[in-house]
Amino acid sequence: MASKPLQLTFVQSGTRVHQLPEMGPEVAFVGRSNVGKSSLINALAHQRQLARVSNTPGRTQLINVFSHASGGAVVDLPGYGYAKVPGHIRGDWSSMIEGYLLDREELVMVFVLVDSEIGPTPLDVQMLEWLRYNEVPHTVVATKSDKVKSAKRQRRKRDLAEGCMLEQGDIVWVSASKNIGIDRLRDLVVSHLLT
Ligand code: GDP
Repeated sequence: MASKPLQLTFVQSGTRVHQLPEMGPEVAFVGRSNVGKSSLINALAHQRQLARVSNTPGRTQLINVFSHASGGAVVDLPGYGYAKVPGHIRGDWSSMIEGYLLDREELVMVFVLVDSEIGPTPLDVQMLEWLRYNEVPHTVVATKSDKVKSAKRQRRKRDLAEGCMLEQGDIVWVSASKNIGIDRLRDLVVSHLLT
């Protein structure tokens, strides 16, 4: 049976942990720009409105907090890897995200999104190594799985897991467009929010 959509409501944006509301256990979504993060959060919530909130100019570079109706919060972190972003902004991004990931007491799980077709980029690998080194709990979610042809799927799963230095079973494969793996990921999110 399909699980119920996450009931999310946009609460607040900020750049620093102390500006963010505290609403109990929190999960965060992070990934490079264009990985499919907004589409995925929308699919989990069955709400198009949410992506619009996070994609509003000016908010894409902020930490966006959504409350979950049954408790806890979902956080949309700004995408990394804009090729044209000047160095000093990349520096701001790092200090904002690192500050959040290291200091946010409510944070129970970080979902790191990696494009199924492209595989982990050097920035994705850097992010995973950093999370591992700092012992921040995280789960890799492979997005846009519909883009990988079925003949290549097994090999792609193996290569992507290897690229992330993980076992195949550790990775959640999803497609927001084709509604693949969304129920499973939603259950996983809820299990963390209700801890
Ligand atoms: P974000 O920048 O990470 O928030 O990415 P978006 O959610 O805006 O998606 C970036 C692009 O990927 C858009 O053109 C989406 O239509 C496309 N996209 C997102 N999810 C999927 C998916 O599951 N399958 C396919 N084929 N395309 C997707």
